[in-house]
Amino acid sequence: MIPETHQAALDELLRSAGLPAAAGNTVDLLAESTNTVYVVQTGETDFILRVYGDSGWPEIYDRARLAKVIHLHEVLAAKGVSVPRILGHVDHPDLQAVLMEHLPGQPLAEALDQVPLPERDDLWRAVGTSLQSVHEISLADIAGEIRGDQVVPFGDGEGPARGWGTFATGDFLDDTDRLSRHLPSLKVDGDWLAEVMSRAREHLDESPVRLLHNDPTVDNIFVERSEDGWRCSGWIDWEFARHGDPAWDCARLELFREHHVPAPSAAFWKAYDGPNQLNLVANQLLVGLFCAGIQFENANAEPGRHAHAIDWLSHFQQHVQRLERLLDAKTSAVIPSTVQGPDSNPGVLGRLRVALRLLMGLRAHDLRAARSYTQLMWSEHSILRRLLLLAGWSLRQMFDVIPRGLMSVSFADQVKSTPIWLDEQNPHADVPWRDGGKLPERVDTLVIGAGFTGASCAYHWSKLSKVDSLAVLDMGDPATGASGRNEGVVVMGRYAAMVRDTVRPYLDSVRKDLSADDRSQLATQFATVYARAAYRNADLVEATVKKEAFDCDYARNGWIQAREAEDQEALAASVEFGQRVGAADWTALPPDQVLKLGGMSVDDPAGFSQASATFHPARWVWCQLQQALRCEQVGLYTRTKVTRVESDDEGYLVITDRGDIRCGNLINATESYTAALYPHYRDLIHPVQTQAAFGEGGPADMPAEIALSGKRSFFGRHPFDNRAQGLLVGSDATRVANHHAGRNAPSRFITCFSLAEVWRYYDSAPVTLTHEWSGTPGFTTDEYPVVGRLDGRNMWIIGGMCGSGTAVSFNGARHVVTRVLGMDDDCDDYPEAYFAPTRLLDPENHPWPELEMV
Ligand SMILES: Cc1cc2nc3c(=O)[nH]c(=O)nc-3n(C[C@H](O)[C@H](O)[C@H](O)COP(=O)(O)OP(=O)(O)OC[C@H]3O[C@@H](n4cnc5c(N)ncnc54)[C@H](O)[C@@H]3O)c2cc1C
Repeated sequence: MIPETHQAALDELLRSAGLPAAAGNTVDLLAESTNTVYVVQTGETDFILRVYGDSGWPEIYDRARLAKVIHLHEVLAAKGVSVPRILGHVDHPDLQAVLMEHLPGQPLAEALDQVPLPERDDLWRAVGTSLQSVHEISLADIAGEIRGDQVVPFGDGEGPARGWGTFATGDFLDDTDRLSRHLPSLKVDGDWLAEVMSRAREHLDESPVRLLHNDPTVDNIFVERSEDGWRCSGWIDWEFARHGDPAWDCARLELFREHHVPAPSAAFWKAYDGPNQLNLVANQLLVGLFCAGIQFENANAEPGRHAHAIDWLSHFQQHVQRLERLLDAKTSAVIPSTVQGPDSNPGVLGRLRVALRLLMGLRAHDLRAARSYTQLMWSEHSILRRLLLLAGWSLRQMFDVIPRGLMSVSFADQVKSTPIWLDEQNPHADVPWRDGGKLPERVDTLVIGAGFTGASCAYHWSKLSKVDSLAVLDMGDPATGASGRNEGVVVMGRYAAMVRDTVRPYLDSVRKDLSADDRSQLATQFATVYARAAYRNADLVEATVKKEAFDCDYARNGWIQAREAEDQEALAASVEFGQRVGAADWTALPPDQVLKLGGMSVDDPAGFSQASATFHPARWVWCQLQQALRCEQVGLYTRTKVTRVESDDEGYLVITDRGDIRCGNLINATESYTAALYPHYRDLIHPVQTQAAFGEGGPADMPAEIALSGKRSFFGRHPFDNRAQGLLVGSDATRVANHHAGRNAPSRFITCFSLAEVWRYYDSAPVTLTHEWSGTPGFTTDEYPVVGRLDGRNMWIIGGMCGSGTAVSFNGARHVVTRVLGMDDDCDDYPEAYFAPTRLLDPENHPWPELEMV
């Protein structure tokens, strides 16, 4: 029942708005917190009645709330931000109320629940654009509360006006201290914390201030589907609005949310175009503490409401360290010599200093890498000439290219060797031991390895097996092999002409019985079959991400690969070949399109794999496992190393450092580690070291969620902590010893080289390098994968994916799982003639494919 006073206010408002009297109307209570909200249904149209009551706010603000809301709605509407139209208000001494339009659309919270995953990006994009418009509104030069149509400096006129930093960090240290009883991670060196926060306060005090919504929860944002996709149909609840640092709203939107509500995706951060990392991290700390305060000190706190903020605070020290680094970078950024373009001159001393450091940092791996590089770049020359070319190239790199390239780069005090993807908590860490689990004595099928391949086996098994059991073992936690250390590009596989050209030399050596033309034809068939399987793989990955609503930042925007003038003929020929064999995703992109799509400046057309995508590779593994583990036939056993495998009539005895397991079928998803486990297969797959590095900052023109590479390195702007702010770079493809599979030993020279390569295509921009790591994809001799039976019995393998694991693992796992389960498969994407390991282990007896008539 609506109280009489509220009904009277409603009648008065309807009358003054010229609307039919309330008789016969339905009035539903929508919410009651600091005000009471009703939905008024008058037949055709719904309205919102908001009644302001006693909120417990200081009276000075409470009485001004109505005027504040009316004023802000006017300002916002004038700036093109959608807010509900106010149809009338009453302002009596004991009651204030407004009658407002009911916004079209639905709350963001509801839409996020309903739309399929890729559409969520559309929603977030709309919200990002709209919040950006809010944050363009400046009501005054000062930070403060909004009272009526005035901005009143924080501090209520007592003492000097307080800037956003002084206001927001006022109780930071006391709050941290008090809350550390509940969250031990908050305990850090107090002096250091005080020092960092005092610098942050100064910075925030100087930052521009804007209109803040201050309560941007997913219930206060309305969205509506339009012909061009989703749009933000409006923002409600402006009574908490303040004037301050806009990054506060972003931090609130990100951290102060229900458990089931996803964080703003990279599309939001892209559309919002900011905020500055320093302000964001500082405000995240403040929001985190604010939420922790509510959670632990408020008897009415809703459980789960602040879980994200508390999770975030569990790495408190790291966030403070990050804030400190960003503050340092800000200080150094004003020293002109640290941020200069690639054409600026580091000076003789600067060059010598860099060259000396590079020389001192050289390791045996750099020499091996130099050999592979020489092979790749100058294979057609004599050894002597290659050495001379390498010497000239190295000197140029060390004394010129890299010193110039590093002028805008700084290195964090402690560069972590953890891949960025594994910086977040691994949901499957230590499973099942953390819950007191036991190793089974027997399973029907055992998978060794929980990377892309092993997780995909588990996923398909969970969908296809009715009764048979499967266990996945890994010596580490899931995705800690190459799958959690890569660049995060979902590739369409190597382009067809490349497959043809890498398979061909192997065919020349093992199929001497064929004429050169026939070997060319066979290589073409290999490329065609490979592309068909890889293309289906890519579509299956996308369909699965959508169907299962996997939260792994999947976006399909292609992969641009720069090519130089001398490569143009080969590029055109590869595109033509791709078209011919049905691999039409591979095209050439003219320089203006390269600039438009990738922000890269190039002089010549680039190769473009249109259907490639990007994602968070570790989350792809974790999501698949999460889904698979819902099926009771599937089990996961981490931190369990297989030391030997024996076979007998009953199947396989798998000996691990936690005990033995028997199984009828065994699937090896061990990729580059295969030879270390099975010495007799040492020539099947060998580890090749590749490395990557990540830094905060990077070129502003480099868009996120598109794969990019130059001729000698890859790079991209990747969401980090869900924000599109970081630069990921990498390079190298050097074979290492089998027992070095999985080694994490990146070369600093290669990191510097990869960073310098970025400035060939982009204007240089500040980067603070924070992570650097390496991993080992697995390569076969002919650089063509193996998918099939390994021992002629029930031991299988999916591997040798040659740095394109995302192109083979999912479909390869589907193929093997259907075979193991003895099920019919509607397509044979991995015919034995092409993919069986005998191609490499026993080429003489391998059942090679028939030559097709051309
Ligand atoms: C820097 C870098 C960038 C890359 N970029 C891309 C890219 O953008 N796109 C792409 O498609 N590919 C990329 N790759 C390659 C890609 O990461 C691999 O192809 C892919 O991860 C292979 O997946 P997997 O599951 O087969 O192997 P892994 O992820 O290596 O998994 C093998 C697992 O087996 C476990 N294991 C091995 N031996 C044992 C044992 N004895 N007992 C128990 N467990 C064992 C390991 O612990 C490991 O977790 C990149 C690789 C690197 C290093």
